[in-house]
Amino acid sequence: MARNWMDKCKAFLLDIFFPNRCPFCGEIIRWDMYSCAACREKFIEANGKICRKCGKHNCSCVEGLNYDMAFASCFFGSDGVNKAVYDFKHIGDTNIAYLTAEDAAEYMKAENIAKPDIIVPVPMGRKKQRRRGHNQAELLGRCIGKTLDIPVRSDILYKYDTEDEQHLHTREEREKRVKELFYVGEKRLAEGESCVLLCDDVMTTGSTINECARQLKEIGAKKVIAVVCAVTKLEKEEA
Ligand SMILES: [Zn+2]
Ligand SMILES: [Zn+2]
Repeated sequence: MARNWMDKCKAFLLDIFFPNRCPFCGEIIRWDMYSCAACREKFIEANGKICRKCGKHNCSCVEGLNYDMAFASCFFGSDGVNKAVYDFKHIGDTNIAYLTAEDAAEYMKAENIAKPDIIVPVPMGRKKQRRRGHNQAELLGRCIGKTLDIPVRSDILYKYDTEDEQHLHTREEREKRVKELFYVGEKRLAEGESCVLLCDDVMTTGSTINECARQLKEIGAKKVIAVVCAVTKLEKEEA
């Protein structure tokens, strides 16, 4: 399964002091589970309903989409999913990340999609990451990496340290601004690194994923597959 034996020992021991809980409803669950059965059934539903290309519930495929396909496990917006995403972001509770990893792996296998070469998490500004202690996209990347046995590369894509004032901008301004937030290092991707799995916790408008994918293609990515824990159901909702 997804976790290696050391992670399993850690999960087992941690469970004695901090019982494992369902990320959606908060019920206590067995130490080696990622959610309760009812919530898994209820919330891990998006991959069967979204457009595989743009990742949206209401397909909004446009020309100039830079990523090639998208996988998402949950729809953002319900109390359960909002709680799971919040706890992942702020406490680093990775249950939803492992669920996303297993779910994406199952769908990729069923749809005969070749295993990506590397995983690139959507980066966080260094100062912000230091403040928070972790980058949830990178945590998700590591969970997917363990599940699919793919290396995680955090030395490819970077984000400038800017204050997050996204809510102050209109959607057009935000899309323009997102282009100035990310940058790639000097390195170009080698032949064996050209199929990239790009991951983030949440996709809303998709402009972050789209810009990161554009930059990855500029340095040699041939295919970019986006994987997120949750996607917003309505196009008009913003990040
Ligand atoms: Zn539950
Ligand atoms: Zn679409």
